[in-house]
Amino acid sequence: MSELVMVIEDEKEIRDLLKYNLEREGFRVATAADGEQGLQQIFASRPAAVVLDLMLPGRSGLEILREVREEPATHDLPVLVLTARGAEMDKLLGFEHGADDYLTKPFSPRELIARLRALLRRSQPVKNDTSITRGTLKLESHSREATVAGVRLTLTPREFDLLVFLARHPGRVVSRDELLRKVWGYDYVGETRTVDVHVRRLRMKLGEEARLIETVTGAGYKFLALERETAS
Ligand code: CA
Repeated sequence: MSELVMVIEDEKEIRDLLKYNLEREGFRVATAADGEQGLQQIFASRPAAVVLDLMLPGRSGLEILREVREEPATHDLPVLVLTARGAEMDKLLGFEHGADDYLTKPFSPRELIARLRALLRRSQPVKNDTSITRGTLKLESHSREATVAGVRLTLTPREFDLLVFLARHPGRVVSRDELLRKVWGYDYVGETRTVDVHVRRLRMKLGEEARLIETVTGAGYKFLALERETAS
């Protein structure tokens, strides 16, 4: 059965546009015109992904996002946010809100579908159960748990993926464009500031192990190659 995408958007024109384009791409689509109804439908019908407008009557998109993230059953549900120009991207992508990705209106349906597919690919469960240890940082790909000195970090799904990618390539300089392609799965190059926002968040959450992610001026980021490393 094709994957169900939930569209929460109060503007009928955009809602219809999304529904039309998503269905043409083979998705099943459920729509809601207000936040409360949308939230109920998310919990009732368990979509594979959500396209969420931020400016909604009743309950705002951010309130909905918060509830989705708080609920264990929907904690990792991919959410692509639609924003007006000038929204505060840092906050949106950060831990407080936890959007997986965002698009600024007006957007092209083709781009939205590319982003959505990337989110859906990423949310597929990892088959090989691996753990990575770097310093006091430990990453478990199966449970998607990250700990520093035994203390669990609260990471967004994207932050976790970014950290795993970097930790798998210690000592190698990785450009922002490469991170966008490999971690975000974009088919195009751009919006490199997104990467910086996520790295900044990650460093804050890593605390004493923030040293593990080095900035290489003009080139990108490098995960610290420790002398003695264990990977299993
Ligand atoms: Ca709106």
